[in-house]
Amino acid sequence: MSTGVSWGLWPRYEQRIIPVTNRFDPLPQAAPMLVFGNGRSYGDVCLNAGGTLLATRSLDRFISFDATSGVLECEAGVLLSEIIALTLPRGWFLPVPPGTALVTVGGAIANDVHGKNHHRAGSFGHHLLSFELRRSSGETLRCAPDQHADWFGATIGGLGLTGMISTARLQLRRVPGEWIAGDSQRFHNLPEFFALAAQSDVAYEYTVGWLDSAASGDKLGRGVFMRGNHLQHDAPPARERSLRFPLTPPISPVTRLSVRLFNELYFRRPASQHPHAIWHYQRFLFPLDRLLDWNRLYGPRGFFQYQCVLPGAEAASALPEMLRRIARSRQGSLLVVLKQFGNLPSLGLLSFPRPGVTLALDFPNRGEPTLQLLESLDAITRSVGGAVYPAKDARMSAQSFQQYFPAWKRLQDYIDPKFSSSFWRRVTRSW
Ligand SMILES: Cc1cc2nc3c(=O)[nH]c(=O)nc-3n(C[C@H](O)[C@H](O)[C@H](O)COP(=O)(O)OP(=O)(O)OC[C@H]3O[C@@H](n4cnc5c(N)ncnc54)[C@H](O)[C@@H]3O)c2cc1C
Repeated sequence: MSTGVSWGLWPRYEQRIIPVTNRFDPLPQAAPMLVFGNGRSYGDVCLNAGGTLLATRSLDRFISFDATSGVLECEAGVLLSEIIALTLPRGWFLPVPPGTALVTVGGAIANDVHGKNHHRAGSFGHHLLSFELRRSSGETLRCAPDQHADWFGATIGGLGLTGMISTARLQLRRVPGEWIAGDSQRFHNLPEFFALAAQSDVAYEYTVGWLDSAASGDKLGRGVFMRGNHLQHDAPPARERSLRFPLTPPISPVTRLSVRLFNELYFRRPASQHPHAIWHYQRFLFPLDRLLDWNRLYGPRGFFQYQCVLPGAEAASALPEMLRRIARSRQGSLLVVLKQFGNLPSLGLLSFPRPGVTLALDFPNRGEPTLQLLESLDAITRSVGGAVYPAKDARMSAQSFQQYFPAWKRLQDYIDPKFSSSFWRRVTRSW
């Protein structure tokens, strides 16, 4: 047994870890089991207290890539960053890049991840041609929109519970190069954000807002809006360097004061108002990957991420109420992302993306006060028919989950009898 954590560094559980190195080997019979990708989920969706984790990072082989059609087949432990490194020099890119490229293909499918282009491209599942699913019974299912279609839909966003995805075929998208051109501009309140999102989603592939969570009064809802498109550019290929956060400080430097200061400086910096910006794709799409192990910044108690989606009509009233509660709680967040999702229905039974606006915030773990704040945000999300993202969650109640994802009971028909997760046991308790 060894202690396992996910990106939020909380909770910590004792688990047995078995590396999977050969995709043709039968799965071990070590119930309850769960596949572990690269641990970039924030909470317990990739944890299995007292059980077994099948670690799949060694399933990292490319199987085929057709540079004419952009169809790629690889093992499920391949990282999205490794796909980009192989295909971008040949003019192909990920159809859906989430906020970090350090996630595996299996993890991207199991959480049906989304990116800054959701309004155009939907989520990861929309670009999957097929995948192979290994079951503990020894059976292998080839799943595609027209083959075992029900297993296809249950496994996309299926939280790793239907078995182990061993390989996947993806349709990549053509891009002219490594650069993204667009602009960034300040917005001073939420109506300005909504107007910018509506106007930009028509002309821009990528759109995202950063929000000042420490702002209150007439500054409530201010932030910076960024948008961009892939660009044909004659700049030489660039490799952005990453730094590593060196250690876990005994006490987190993320305090009310540092959050307020950071937010003020970020809002005011000259780059927040830039009419003709050109970014390297890594800087624009994966800014956090430039500081490896940044989660240590939150100290040994770790942190929570709260990501919700609020339906369009209700978001205009629910968002200010959430921001007021956060400001009152004095537990502001450094990284706040606001994004308008598109209307393309997700393919997965339990996929998170749905029409509306999604808000994501990080909070240092201060124990009960933080849990109470998050539960009060849940009360707002529940009241407007929204949902919270399981990939980012370590604490939502069974009641909340079952309201957010009414199809959870249907997923049970597809769960591998030898598979389970800490998340699933927590959110399917009766309440
Ligand atoms: C900085 C940062 C930014 C992020 N930004 C975004 C974002 O913009 N959009 C977004 O959607 N998400 C985002 N995420 C969340 C992240 O994309 C997801 O949590 C993703 O699923 C993590 O993949 P992983 O390979 O690390 O898998 P893990 O976290 O290890 O596992 C995630 C789930 O996938 C299952 N799984 C993994 N591999 C397999 C397999 N081979 N077969 C079956 N199940 C499997 C696991 O059992 C688990 O349920 C972000 C995370 C971070 C740290």
